[in-house]
Amino acid sequence: MKSRGVGRLLGWIDTIMFIPGIDENILAMKKNVWLGSFGSGIAISGMTLLGYFLDLPVIVSYGFALLSLTIPALIILPFLKKNIDLIFFSIQFILIWITFFFMLRMGGLLTSAGLLFTGISIIFMSTTYQNNRLTIILFSTYITTLITTALLQPKLSPLPQMTPAKNLLFFTVNFTWQAGYTLLLIINNISQKKKLAEAKHAEALRLQELDEAKTRLFTNITHEFRTPLTIILGMARLIREKPEEWLEDGTEKIGNSGKNLLNLVNQMLDLAKLEAGAMPLHNFQQDIILQLRYLVDSFSSMAISRKIRLEFIPGTDHFLMDYDADKLMHILSNLLSNALKYNVDGNYAEVKAGPAGQGENDFVISVTDNGPGINPEHLPYIFDRFYRIEKDNGKQESGSGLGLTLTKELVRLMKGTISVCSLPDKGTTFTVCLPISNQALLRETAGFSDFRERWISESYLSGHERKTSSGRKGEESGRHILLIVEDSNDLVDYLEAVLRDDFLMEFAVNGKEGFDKALEFVPDIILSDVMMPEMDGITMLDKIRSDERTSHIPVVMLTAKADIASRLEGIGRGADAYMSKPFHEEELKLRLTKLIEQRNTLRQRYASMGVFTQSDDPTYKTEDAFMMKIRGIMEANLDNEDFGINQLCRGVGMSRAQLYRKFKSLTDKTVNEYLIQFRLYKANEMLKNTSLTASEIAWETGFKNLSHFSRVYRKMYGHSPGSHRN
Ligand code: ADP
Repeated sequence: MKSRGVGRLLGWIDTIMFIPGIDENILAMKKNVWLGSFGSGIAISGMTLLGYFLDLPVIVSYGFALLSLTIPALIILPFLKKNIDLIFFSIQFILIWITFFFMLRMGGLLTSAGLLFTGISIIFMSTTYQNNRLTIILFSTYITTLITTALLQPKLSPLPQMTPAKNLLFFTVNFTWQAGYTLLLIINNISQKKKLAEAKHAEALRLQELDEAKTRLFTNITHEFRTPLTIILGMARLIREKPEEWLEDGTEKIGNSGKNLLNLVNQMLDLAKLEAGAMPLHNFQQDIILQLRYLVDSFSSMAISRKIRLEFIPGTDHFLMDYDADKLMHILSNLLSNALKYNVDGNYAEVKAGPAGQGENDFVISVTDNGPGINPEHLPYIFDRFYRIEKDNGKQESGSGLGLTLTKELVRLMKGTISVCSLPDKGTTFTVCLPISNQALLRETAGFSDFRERWISESYLSGHERKTSSGRKGEESGRHILLIVEDSNDLVDYLEAVLRDDFLMEFAVNGKEGFDKALEFVPDIILSDVMMPEMDGITMLDKIRSDERTSHIPVVMLTAKADIASRLEGIGRGADAYMSKPFHEEELKLRLTKLIEQRNTLRQRYASMGVFTQSDDPTYKTEDAFMMKIRGIMEANLDNEDFGINQLCRGVGMSRAQLYRKFKSLTDKTVNEYLIQFRLYKANEMLKNTSLTASEIAWETGFKNLSHFSRVYRKMYGHSPGSHRN
């Protein structure tokens, strides 16, 4: 670990080396060269001092010669922006020749106090340059001076002041600091390489995340596009087939879906424009409070349908300032629709607006809700493009993750700021501050009221009033019960129109409600969307499959995700079929009917009283276990005449209605029918395999009235119980 002192020194070097606009590589090189020169400066000073104390003027001169180059270099380096390698190359080139000169003066390689090592650190330091050729030139020059000194040796004589003892001391000192210095350079090099590798790794991760974000966006966008497209195509078909019935309703729904699509496309285009700096600002001086009041008002029907109390709390009645009304409308719509969309039914949302306190020149708008809030770990990212928060169960609300990005960009365009404050389970506040000025043209504000028509899709505002069930005209009609779990109101309307002649229908808006309704009604079949708020289709499917009361119900998943992975996931978890949007209504009807028919194989298996063995086939596994449990309970109570549906319900932990519905769909019999047949089947077995009398057997199988036993037995087997004995 670096000590605090070193950390502070490095931080200080960072600040003095920085020049605005400097290239990062050059900055790094400057730092390395400066540190290198600083280190050698200290070492040279030490050597000079030692020379002075040991009375060696030649070493002192050599030291001063080196310092006269090193100190100016340290001073000018922070101001350099380019050509650093060339300047330092020149200095080092001169240093090599100075050293050469002193080696000759001191009588050759071995009597010159170890000056021959100086070149080594020079060469190592030059490796930080961006140009290899400079290092090679320095190296060749250094070697040339060494060889020349060696060749000139016969002509040289050592200085008398440099005694062998002093020479040895300096030889060792010089070698040690050069070697230490070289070691530091190598360590520095290695750690930089490591940093580079880490940076590369981080970049790879970033690219991978970007890639995943793109895929996520693609999936979400496909989902957002496919739902309205399904409605448009389906409604167009209905209008073609039954124009008298569907013309009005159908065209309205097509219009709404079209608006939704347009909204999404506009959002994407706006973002692209904003990022390209191509979105102009149309500022006018107008009453911002008045516009905000209209905007909040236009969300009231959406709030009412969610039972959310929506309030507008202005700081003043009117406020004139310069701003772009379109942009403000987008900003507030995004924040408000989030405050409603992510909120919980029955909560509140409020918009406060007014000029900031004294001495500040801002107009502040805040949008607050007391919904689920945002976890602190997500807060820094919610304004990022495509960023959406996965819920605890790993699933998400519908949305594109573009809303807040767009909002932030728009606020920035208006020279304002946006901030968020959120506490999990307490709620969220978004605060927008816009600078106040009054220089633009004055504009009438009467036109605000048509924002609602122009911008906010009607279906979005009113689309949250949910259907509960289509008139159930009684099960005696023989129609099967279909539970539709889908969050898009328009799609539900369309499905109802297509399927109402063939099915009795129940509806749920998300997986949670879907599962509750599946328990309540035990439908014959379920048609469910995959991506839904609160609980998605796959989680619901898991719950349905693992609950004995609902495990037998066929489930068809309806999804916009056409990709194979999500289909496999659904099928793997026990979905019986997958339909991708947009779908063809005939195909859908056929699928549903066929799946209900396929349950006949179950009926054949369980309706007959014959013994079956527990199967490992997933189609039968759970239901086998269930029927075996039923039979076990019945068998244990065989001689109990009073045993009936109530005791059986208690035994399997189901309500009468649940058991009735499940039983009917597994066996096509009522519980009572099945129980009597089971008793008779057991009686028949005993008649064949034991020597008990018919009246004893009747008693054993819960028929306390012998003539009743004979009558029902004859009805089932076509002969009297006594005939076995005859
Ligand atoms: P989206 O299209 O998904 O709504 P946004 O950019 O508008 O995208 O929001 C990003 C994420 O921030 C959302 O997925 C949501 O989880 C979270 N978020 C935004 N506003 C709120 C809020 N008022 N309450 C809770 N979560 C919110």
